[in-house]
Amino acid sequence: MTAPLIDPFQRAISYLRVSVTDRCDFRCVYCMSENMTFLPKKELLTLEELDRMCTTFIDMGVEKLRITGGEPLVRKGIMTFFDGMTRHLDSGALKELTLTTNGSQMERFADDLYEAGVRRVNISLDTLDEKKFADITRWGRLPQVIKGIDAAQRAGLRVKINTVALKGFNEDELFTLTDWCAERDMDLTFIEVMPMGDIGNEDRLDQYWKLSDLRTDLRERFTLTDLPDRTGGPARYVRIEETGQKIGFITPLTHNFCESCNRVRLTCTGELYMCLGQEDMADLRAPLRNNPASDAPLMEAIRSAITRKPKGHDFDYSRQSVDGRVSRHMSHTGG
Ligand code: SAM
Ligand code: SF4
Repeated sequence: MTAPLIDPFQRAISYLRVSVTDRCDFRCVYCMSENMTFLPKKELLTLEELDRMCTTFIDMGVEKLRITGGEPLVRKGIMTFFDGMTRHLDSGALKELTLTTNGSQMERFADDLYEAGVRRVNISLDTLDEKKFADITRWGRLPQVIKGIDAAQRAGLRVKINTVALKGFNEDELFTLTDWCAERDMDLTFIEVMPMGDIGNEDRLDQYWKLSDLRTDLRERFTLTDLPDRTGGPARYVRIEETGQKIGFITPLTHNFCESCNRVRLTCTGELYMCLGQEDMADLRAPLRNNPASDAPLMEAIRSAITRKPKGHDFDYSRQSVDGRVSRHMSHTGG
């Protein structure tokens, strides 16, 4: 292993999120427009390139990999990639291999993912109402996702549900969702909607449901205890005393979590974003592709990128206009 990656603010970079595709079998209204143009295949890192890229980051001290997208499980041959990462879990260099998925393909992949060493998955689910689910995902079907969640739990994967908090959409399901997760022994994390990408006519300020309000609503029925858990990211956790459940709140817009940020994001085309909320990125595909026999130029490019990791992001909804808006889609950077 080489010297660890430390940024200019003395934060050690130990967590890499990797988008393996920009494609998806859903078209969630807050994430994509109905008619998305996807990248030509040759722009994408191949599975071998993804392996080499992740292996290099692991050699440089990354201990946690989260695979995301787009929908990671629609990437052709994706199990080859997961199976390849197993060797880093076996060696102890990689502490956790995980993914964020919409659950649609989980029934097919759950056992293989467990076999590859995945132990926890985040599955996104915004509503338990079939009609509303079809509306919000445009192309998704709820029963398929429920089957996926069943399969994941059967396979032994610990499931955490991610729910985007949307005003006027799932406010009324706060307790239904919480109870449902408690019954199935699943933790639940609420995510504040973020100003990413052009998604057509949806007005994002209309969708914005402040998580501090959501938390107040939860308090009406439950006793919440703050938990000290920190993942180096924007999530904060509480325990519901009545159910023992852990509830997370991801509030990238209203909380300052940047001082403990330990992560960077790699897009499916090999761009490294040092901050979710900033446009600055470094192209890692060229140093990787142009040097098939040596990882040294890639390592150099990674080190140089980390020296540019900014202190924090600039998202701001406070003046009733979406400032600090980032033009790329979440499916590009990887949510
Ligand atoms: N397709 C997978 C999924 O849906 O879980 C992985 C990629 S998706 C971009 C990752 C997460 O980002 C999902 O939980 C999704 O709900 C969330 N997300 C997408 N667009 C968002 C936005 N504009 N604001 C907040 N969360 C968003
Ligand atoms: Fe696809 Fe996930 Fe975006 Fe929904 S949130 S469109 S499932 S990438």
